[in-house]
Amino acid sequence: MPSQKVIFRILRYKPGLIEPPRYQDFEIPWTPNLTVLDGLERIRLHQDATLMYRHCCHHASCGTCACTIDGTPALACTTRVAGPDATVTLEPLAHHPCLGDLAVDTRSFFKEMDAGWSNLQPIKKATKDRTPQGVDRLIRLQNCIECGCCVAACPVSSDADLFVGPAVLAAVKHELQRRPKRKAALMKIASDPRGADMCKRHLACSRVCPSQVYPARHIADLSKAIHGPGHGPLKKK
Ligand code: SF4
Repeated sequence: MPSQKVIFRILRYKPGLIEPPRYQDFEIPWTPNLTVLDGLERIRLHQDATLMYRHCCHHASCGTCACTIDGTPALACTTRVAGPDATVTLEPLAHHPCLGDLAVDTRSFFKEMDAGWSNLQPIKKATKDRTPQGVDRLIRLQNCIECGCCVAACPVSSDADLFVGPAVLAAVKHELQRRPKRKAALMKIASDPRGADMCKRHLACSRVCPSQVYPARHIADLSKAIHGPGHGPLKKK
């Protein structure tokens, strides 16, 4: 029986080298339970060592392998390839500057986070000898794996300078629950013109979140807290 194949159609981009971006097809053998990340690793190992993408844990804990898979933001490590003869189209996450191929710059995702929030926890296993150069310690949000899928899916987040984004607002809501004494400072973030009022209830963030954070629900709760109980229904405006 001839071996079964799948096509990975990847949007390539390398500043100064592959510009403007263009799609490149890679054919790889299909195997049962093949994930998108398995395929990317195979391509990098056997066909093109210059392919750029991020990955780390391989089990939906780190959020680093998020990219746009067949038009939807998702984790490459937990997305299975549909079957033999499939074509999987891969692009970098939207609403994040692209560094090259599928690797994006995630700094804008973190810039609105306050290091003092209680749901930002130090990663105990990441001791100094395991952190990247120039980084003293790693912290992470509880529940949220900081993949950026919600921001990529949110139509309002196309301009990060305008909207603080679903992950930040979900974190603000968590912090409100944990530290009610900080209500004034937190509600200031939520009620800022760049905050909850910019949400148009597309709900795309909650649909794509691989960690069941349901950011849209938290944004609706913040809207209710800002404008009163009649506000914040989970439906499109
Ligand atoms: Fe990812 Fe969900 Fe966190 Fe958004 S809220 S960054 S989708 S885990």
